[in-house]
Amino acid sequence: MKKWNLFLVFLISTVLLAACGAPQNNSAEPGKSGDDKLQVVTTYSILYDIVKNVGGDRVEIHSLAPVGSNPHEYDPLPADVQKTTDADAVFYNGLNLEAGNSWFEKLMQTAGKSGPDAPVFRLSEGVAAKHLTTKGKESEEDPHAWLDVRNGIKYAENARDALIKIDPAHKETYEKNATAYIEKLRALHDEAVKQYGQIPREQRVLVTSEGAFKYFCEAYDFDAAYIWEINSENQGTPEQVSQVVDLIREKKIPALFVETSIDPRSMEMVSRETGVPIVGKVFTDSLGKPGEDGDTYIKMMEWNIKTIYEGLMKK
Ligand SMILES: [Zn+2]
Repeated sequence: MKKWNLFLVFLISTVLLAACGAPQNNSAEPGKSGDDKLQVVTTYSILYDIVKNVGGDRVEIHSLAPVGSNPHEYDPLPADVQKTTDADAVFYNGLNLEAGNSWFEKLMQTAGKSGPDAPVFRLSEGVAAKHLTTKGKESEEDPHAWLDVRNGIKYAENARDALIKIDPAHKETYEKNATAYIEKLRALHDEAVKQYGQIPREQRVLVTSEGAFKYFCEAYDFDAAYIWEINSENQGTPEQVSQVVDLIREKKIPALFVETSIDPRSMEMVSRETGVPIVGKVFTDSLGKPGEDGDTYIKMMEWNIKTIYEGLMKK
């Protein structure tokens, strides 16, 4: 009897599991799941969070470059190609970010999303682009616009407009979500100005591995130095290291920072050579892992404000 009961439980569970696992894509429209959520792809975690805040429950998002990785270069997996093919919308940063080895362009071609009418949206649209300063690269744009929160607001507005374009029936939802989110971003920008303003101007120098802080420096009145200007080129060559070491000595810079999405060994070498400590990690190209520090755009910027403030005020 007992055995028979167990068998029944097993049988019922198996049937239930099979039912749950059955494809739920009942909609005739490609890329739409049965519950009619929009299927969205973003290229990296920061865009994921911004689009999630604007799209709310209406969007189901697949993000490509994983948390903690470098979105300048990425090798899409077969599942990424499938999700991108099925997506109702794809959001990318542009400004030369997803450019390493042309990975994004190739993915759009493979996924059939490369035509002029493809639902592919550049979230940095309307941002005043800054350019690289390394010799020979002056025509290339610097992608790190989101480190100025005012540009983050622009990204949220662009996400809102794109979602309304592909899903006009839920215009009000997107507008409401975006307005609430943008209000928080405005407060965050004001807070950043206030906090950074307490650091004496001559101490406002940010040394990181990658030169990701051009937009940031303009917004919050900092100077920046770096080992290499942009990821996806030679990183941490002896020449780059010795140049920043000289600069740190010459300007008597008291503190170094290292990014969460970059191998810290180059900055550790700079620290050893100069005797200047690495005082904290900052978020640039990726959010923190879910449940950990900096796991949303707002939290990563709050983390940066606090870390930079404490790191530079120690001296
Ligand atoms: Zn970067």
